[in-house]
Amino acid sequence: MSERRYLLRTFGCQMNEHDSERIAGLLTSDGYVATEEAAEASVVVFNTCAIRENADNRLYGNLGHLRPLKQANPRMRIVVAGCLAQKDGGLIQEKAPWVDVVVGTHALPGLLELLHRAETKGPQMDLSEVTEVFPSALPALREVRHHAWVSIAVGCDNQCTFCIVPLVRGPQLSRPIGDVLAEVQGLARNGVVEVTLLGQNVNTYGRDLTVPDSPRRPMFADLLRAVNRVEGLRRIRFTSPHPHEFTPDVIDAMAGSDKVCEHIHFPLQSGSDRVLKVMQRSYRRERYLAWLDAIRAAIRGIAVSTDIIVGFPGETEEDFLDTLELVGRAGFDQAYTFQYSPRPGTRAATMDDQIPKEVVQERFDRLVALQESISLERMREQVGTTAEVLVEGIGRKGGLQGRTRTNRVVHFEGDHVPGDFVDVAIVGAHPHHLDGEPAREPAAVS
Ligand code: SF4
Repeated sequence: MSERRYLLRTFGCQMNEHDSERIAGLLTSDGYVATEEAAEASVVVFNTCAIRENADNRLYGNLGHLRPLKQANPRMRIVVAGCLAQKDGGLIQEKAPWVDVVVGTHALPGLLELLHRAETKGPQMDLSEVTEVFPSALPALREVRHHAWVSIAVGCDNQCTFCIVPLVRGPQLSRPIGDVLAEVQGLARNGVVEVTLLGQNVNTYGRDLTVPDSPRRPMFADLLRAVNRVEGLRRIRFTSPHPHEFTPDVIDAMAGSDKVCEHIHFPLQSGSDRVLKVMQRSYRRERYLAWLDAIRAAIRGIAVSTDIIVGFPGETEEDFLDTLELVGRAGFDQAYTFQYSPRPGTRAATMDDQIPKEVVQERFDRLVALQESISLERMREQVGTTAEVLVEGIGRKGGLQGRTRTNRVVHFEGDHVPGDFVDVAIVGAHPHHLDGEPAREPAAVS
């Protein structure tokens, strides 16, 4: 019998990358082998994102391309998974009746069953609203051996007006601390040296958990300390925290846990108090800056990245200048900057005062220019230092690419393989990466 092959396309954030590792793991456990060729695939899976602009147009474009292949090979099974599947549900099979399975964000564990049912019973859909099995508990097929995503919670209890996550991922559900630890211990035994703990709002981890016979819930700081004790592990990262929940206990846990890397993604979204209020972000600019100061004071050399949205409905020039001013004061190492565009299903999409595209573009260009100069300045501060780099593979420049504990990308030459730790002398700086060469002296941070 010829091999059954699957093609998996992933869109969107790390949560989707994590879920795709599970989709690949499930299909592999059922005997499928990966392919990059749609024409030879028995199963094609689109793991979709509802956050990006025009995500639905992109999906239907991809599905349209598959239609002739499906007509030529009616046994091919087409699956739409992820946030857009959860959001649009039956609409997907209405618009593209050649789709065999629509599987929402909570229903991944049933994917094989849905595929088998589609063989005999026709199109299937599961949009369960409750996560009964965490995707992390499913078999995984990871692209790299040294790093793993570990889901600690799914969903979010906040209601940021620009965000679709609460709608498609539901309220927060934390994974029991014992399950997280068991997974991390297993990963470390199998050679994983770096984990990224994943959640929509990692630092509210645990607030929905109860522990039998204990008045106290496990919190994110407890989890960090516990994961830090796992033998064999060398680096711990997490994403994303919400600034409002960044308590002193979490800062202490980071500072006191040697495996927790000196990098934090600290989403700002806007530097205007007025806009933050309309976004329903529960902090204000001075509070945000005060937290940043506290984190930097406790964790020497920590790098900070952020997210900023430009052109939120009603954003005035004055609001935008507040953002520029805060960006100048905060001195972020990196910023992921987004031009606001209405996302169906969010409250912001129905607000008056949507900002004209050309105004958004002009503000965006100013913000990017400012942040690029700050990023370059911060990268230049690294020249002359030596950093411990975890090799990721071949980089864009043809040599090796790796990452420092502070999440800075370094390009350098050498004879190493992904997963190796190398001490690298930093000799050049660019806004988004560093140039290095093998170090004569060991890195200060190991
Ligand atoms: S905290 Fe994050 S995931 Fe939750 S609603 Fe706000 S932006 Fe979305």
